[in-house]
Amino acid sequence: MIKVGINGYGTIGRRVADAVRLQKDMSIIGIVKTKPDYVAVEAARMFNVYASDNETLHTFESSGIKAKGTLNDLVQSVDVMVDCTPEGMGEKNKELYKKSNIKAIFQGGEEAKIAEQSFNAYSSYDKSVGKQFLRVVSCNTTGLARTIYPIMKKFGVNSVDATLIRRATDPNDSKKGPINAVEPSLKFPSHHGPDLKTVLDVKDVGTVAIKVPTTLMHVHSISLKTDSEVSKDKLIEEWSKFNRIIPLSGKSGLSSTSQIMDLAREFGRKRGDLFEIAVWKESLFTSGNTVRYIQAVHQESDVVPENVDAIRAIMGYSDREKSITDTDNTMGIFRRDL
Ligand code: NAD
Repeated sequence: MIKVGINGYGTIGRRVADAVRLQKDMSIIGIVKTKPDYVAVEAARMFNVYASDNETLHTFESSGIKAKGTLNDLVQSVDVMVDCTPEGMGEKNKELYKKSNIKAIFQGGEEAKIAEQSFNAYSSYDKSVGKQFLRVVSCNTTGLARTIYPIMKKFGVNSVDATLIRRATDPNDSKKGPINAVEPSLKFPSHHGPDLKTVLDVKDVGTVAIKVPTTLMHVHSISLKTDSEVSKDKLIEEWSKFNRIIPLSGKSGLSSTSQIMDLAREFGRKRGDLFEIAVWKESLFTSGNTVRYIQAVHQESDVVPENVDAIRAIMGYSDREKSITDTDNTMGIFRRDL
């Protein structure tokens, strides 16, 4: 049984904790919180809660939430820590993980160099087996890697050009924006292009990122050149071999991110999550070696199954297919076509 700790129990951390709980081969030893807030109250019903440091431990004690100890205690009892703290904090935490001789998985907000290998279950599982430090790439990069990998595997991919229309912030955040502006990233390529190369072997990747005032999902418009000719039917057939991609249609009433998130709520999953990448079938265009399509990415949850597979990979489990299948089966991810 793999002993897992979760450091940082926010948008990503709490979802990863729930997904790990569903697995037969791993268990959550504890989660780390900085505040004894409503999330900590609910977490304490399911998990052992640890405070981030001694000072925080006192605030837990005075609030009535029983904390088992601090992060320093938790690192003594886990095999692997999934670090889901806010971006930039992983580097400092890494020192503690190193000192405690445990493995750790960081998230996409950290720089790629924090880990020996960046992780996507489809495209870089094999290279990640047995490492000490992995980094699951960001929600956007995961979305790109998921749908491009099957194309690459079957047809070869020469170059990728993607425009990422990014949600401003997550739904539980009332502080960030923009709330009435469109904000392009003024750097080309945006960081997503180089990031994609850490998990997928493509030479030429150009990405443009534009933030818009919505909290639901990101939308990507992708154009790529393949090595061999592609037809629409063949491409849909390839995608349909990968459960974490859902081809869907505007004709089913799914013409915007609002309806896609409504579909996710219909799936009946906790928090209305959509772990899969939704690709609009009508947007798919192929001509010779050119492919174009539009996809939607649920930023709060698409990286969650990847974190589960990353735990197996880092612990030395080399059967990629079985890990992905077990994760999908336990999380209710199966072939869907809408
Ligand atoms: P978040 O702010 O929702 O959650 C972070 C949590 O860590 C919060 O609960 C915060 O209180 C807690 N925290 C702060 N300092 C801490 C400390 N010293 N010790 C322990 N916990 C501490 O952030 P998030 O959105 O879950 O992001 C976490 C990581 O995942 C980042 O690297 C981010 O870039 C990445 N990521 C985020 C998304 C997304 O859309 N939210 C998607 C993919 C990847």
